Amino acid sequence: MHHLLVTNDDGIGSPGLLALADALSALGQVTVVAPDRERSAVSHAITLHKPLRLEPAAVPVEGVRAYLSNGTPADCVVLGKMELTPNHPDLVVAGINGGPNLGNDVTYSGTVAAAMEGALIGAPAFALSVTGDHVRDFSFAARFARQLAERVLARGLPAEVFLNVNIPDLPPEEITGVELTRLARRRWDERLVKRQDPRGRAYYWQAGEPDHDGCGPGTDVAAVLAGRISITPAHLDLTSHSALAQLAGLPADLW
Ligand code: MN
Repeated sequence: MHHLLVTNDDGIGSPGLLALADALSALGQVTVVAPDRERSAVSHAITLHKPLRLEPAAVPVEGVRAYLSNGTPADCVVLGKMELTPNHPDLVVAGINGGPNLGNDVTYSGTVAAAMEGALIGAPAFALSVTGDHVRDFSFAARFARQLAERVLARGLPAEVFLNVNIPDLPPEEITGVELTRLARRRWDERLVKRQDPRGRAYYWQAGEPDHDGCGPGTDVAAVLAGRISITPAHLDLTSHSALAQLAGLPADLW
């Protein structure tokens, strides 16, 4: 029997997590270990300065074991490996996130970091997001997650590679295919808005609109805008291998 570890960054009560756990329960024993509150945009943070806790949780999905933790998504993956699933889960899936994780978003995303942690513990892993601002229906994305999970369980993934999947928030009949993509260079323009509070002190709030320069053909952003499901293979090795050659003279300049 397959053992699947499921987590997210939207918290244990989120509808995307429940839809995912339900869909994957057809493939084996699903163990959910999820944060006890929303942890979006915590990236790959881990907890160092307080005790981590793990408590049984009730989720309305038959046959699924569920636990909540006061830790981050990456903590949840490590806890799941250590305490719950047999030591090597056959698959780690993070999501389904409500909201996109496209382009540069992946450096902030708790969802993507959970999949990355899955790869770090040596399991095949993918992160799954639906790209809308107010996603209401995760059922299509959950069915797609099951299909992808089946394929990954059967065929594995290349070493140290995990997948970042984004599904357009469209009615299923308007989704036109699946595309293997690279990450876009999507930036957020004027990301911080500065205003004054009622007492005259400045405050700053994350806002702003994505700038779609750097989102040409072949990118995850372009695929989703065209109504296709984007799958980006990502690698644990963040080394820029091309820069190793370009910067070959750097040590001699410094020493
Ligand atoms: Mn989130």
